[in-house]
Amino acid sequence: MPELPEVETVRRTLLASCEGQEVKKVILRRPDLRWPIPANLPQLIEGQHILSIKRRAKYLLFEFAHGNLMIHLGMSGVLKLVEANTPVGKHDHFDLLLNSNLCLRLNDTRRFGAVLWSELENSHPLLANLGPEPLSEEFNADLLYRLSRTRQTAIKLLIMDSHIVVGVGNIYANEALFHAKIDPATPASQLSKAQCEKLSDAIKQVLNRAIEQGGTTLKDYRDGKGKPGYFQQELFVYGRGGKPCLICRSMLLETRLGQRTTVYCQQCQVQS
Ligand SMILES: [Zn+2]
Repeated sequence: MPELPEVETVRRTLLASCEGQEVKKVILRRPDLRWPIPANLPQLIEGQHILSIKRRAKYLLFEFAHGNLMIHLGMSGVLKLVEANTPVGKHDHFDLLLNSNLCLRLNDTRRFGAVLWSELENSHPLLANLGPEPLSEEFNADLLYRLSRTRQTAIKLLIMDSHIVVGVGNIYANEALFHAKIDPATPASQLSKAQCEKLSDAIKQVLNRAIEQGGTTLKDYRDGKGKPGYFQQELFVYGRGGKPCLICRSMLLETRLGQRTTVYCQQCQVQS
C-alpha cells in the first residue's frame, strides 16, 4: 500500500506536468471508489487551472482557485500521466484530461482509493483531525514525549496513530524503531526523553531517505511517471523476519502488534 514517501514521490513526479494546466475534461468511469465521487466534479473543475499539488498525510491535494481535488491512493491506486489517446484499461476509473493533451489517470484494482472535493484546504472532515506532518518542525521529540506520557499502548502503535503524527505506516514504523534501537512493544509512557529524541529523528530520516529513493515498491506501486521506488533495498527489518539482523547477525523476530506484522531485533532493540 502506498505510504507517505510513495505519495510524496507521486506528487513530485506529477507537479511539473500539472502545475498551471487547465482541466479540459473530467471522465468518471464509476460513481464511487471507497466513497462516492462527487457527481458535479466536471462542472467544478472543467475549464479551471491546477495551481499546485500539495500533500496532507496521504492525500494529494490538487489546488484550484476555488477548492481542492483530493485524491487518495488507498491500497492499490496508481496515478500517472499518459498520452490522451492511451487505451483505457480495466481498472482505470478516473481521468483528468489536461490542455497539454496529457491525461492524469487513476487506476485502482482494489478500489480503496478516493476522489473527493474540498472547498478549503484542510476543511474536509477527513483532514480536520489529523496530527502534524512527520517531516514538519511541529513533530519533534518534545511533542512525542508529551503525548506519550499517559499512554500504555505499544510505541509502534502510537507512532502509527494519525492523531499523534500522520503518515508513519507499517513499513516505516518498523524501520524507524530499529534505527532508534527501541523495542516496538515498549509501552509509550516508558520512553525516556532521549529515546523520544532518537525516535523522532529516526522517523524523519527513514521517511526522507525513502523519498530520496522514490519510495518502496513491494507490489504494484509506481510513481507519477510509471517508475518503481528503490527503498526496499534499504530495509533493515520490514519483510526480514527470521533473517539475520544486518547489524548484529542475530535472528530477527516477527510478531504482530495491532494486527500488523512487526519485525525487530531482540539484541539491538531494547524496552528502555
Ligand atoms: Zn541486531
